[in-house]
Amino acid sequence: MGQQKNSQQLLAKETAVLSKAARVKYYDIVIESGSGAEITDVDGNVYIDLLASASSTNTGHSHPHIVQAIQEQAAKLIQYTPAYFASAPEAELAPRLAALAPISGDVALAWGNSGSDANDAIIKFARAYTGRQNIVSFTGAYHGSTYGAISVSAVSLNMSRKIGPLLPGVVKVPYPDPWQRLSGESNDEFVDRMFAAFKQPFETYLPADEVAVILIEPIQGDGGIIKAPTAYMKKIYNFAKANGILFAVDEVNQGMGRTGKWWSIEHFGIEPDLMSVGKSLASGLPLSAVIGKDEIMNSLGSPAHTFTTAGNPVTTAAALATIDVIEDEHLLERSVKLGALAKEYFESAQKKYNFIGDVRMYGLDGGIDIISPETGKGDDEATTKLIYRVFELGAIIISLRGNVLRFQPPLVITEAQLNKTFHIFDQAFEELYQGKL
Ligand code: PLP
Repeated sequence: MGQQKNSQQLLAKETAVLSKAARVKYYDIVIESGSGAEITDVDGNVYIDLLASASSTNTGHSHPHIVQAIQEQAAKLIQYTPAYFASAPEAELAPRLAALAPISGDVALAWGNSGSDANDAIIKFARAYTGRQNIVSFTGAYHGSTYGAISVSAVSLNMSRKIGPLLPGVVKVPYPDPWQRLSGESNDEFVDRMFAAFKQPFETYLPADEVAVILIEPIQGDGGIIKAPTAYMKKIYNFAKANGILFAVDEVNQGMGRTGKWWSIEHFGIEPDLMSVGKSLASGLPLSAVIGKDEIMNSLGSPAHTFTTAGNPVTTAAALATIDVIEDEHLLERSVKLGALAKEYFESAQKKYNFIGDVRMYGLDGGIDIISPETGKGDDEATTKLIYRVFELGAIIISLRGNVLRFQPPLVITEAQLNKTFHIFDQAFEELYQGKL
């Protein structure tokens, strides 16, 4: 008989040595395996994963086709650095990924190991190409943990505290999130007001011809799953084009089919100059890329932006298999179809329960606000109770900004699992409503 594993015992040793900065504290479970939209802990408890490992397993956990590709590649060649030589899967992936990017004309890319370093790359290429230093990003943005990426982010005090000075030349403008909307304000009025706020720095202290790039999440992830109004996006895009400023999108969280399209910027009919992609690119193996117009991506000499393991054979084989799965299993269509069911469910719950505020759902990509019915403001305590009860009932969900339920299940979630999820929410919502939590 093998020694019985136990989440608590394993965690006691692990947390004793793990930096407090390394994890957001949730539940005391240790995950042993995953399959599709389910994960199983070392004690045998099974959960529906509504987080998809932070939107990094859009194809589900340990998809057999991807496992096979990884195993076969690992048996052939685990690593050779693309900084010196291409490997077969890397050579195949580069043109396939470039062709998927929503950028016309000649496109080039550079590999990375994480979404963070891909966003650092955007800053580097944009500065090099334009010869300008300043970068405009948005409140509520999360672009990553490296110095460049955290410098353009604005969502977490703890991530920015004590480490300054951050990268100079970054200006943050307000993201047009629904909480900024004044009561009775029409969409056009809202867009005009937010665009005026966007232009304000340019009119007072920031010469537009000294700005290299505008970097935006077309749909903010950690900011609360918020889609900028299309008219706003078009205005800032046109402003960028009129002033020789590059337009870059961060697709790390929202790309790879999450919102029902390959890339979230496709919802806006806008063609970016640069984009970053990561997370689900290799179904959670460490692979990212910055993809952009050829002349921008070739504005640095050679070699100028490489990492030893970035674009390695195993991760690129996993990415090829990931793209196969998204195409063969029609995961974009699936995201749209199942996302519509989720929207319908949460909107019907919203009618029943006055503590459910705004419901946002773009494919299988949702943010559901939990509010205090008395004040209409976010209710972090109720949200915490709710997500813990959902966990007890067998599903993993986390919150964003304290009071937004983050609904991002793997795109392979079955309808039966989705219905089970709705039953779990029915129970948790009802218990919260009755004051039982
Ligand atoms: N960009 C976005 C939009 C993200 O959501 C994240 C991570 O959550 C990142 C970048 C950073 O990616 P990584 O954690 O792989 O460095």
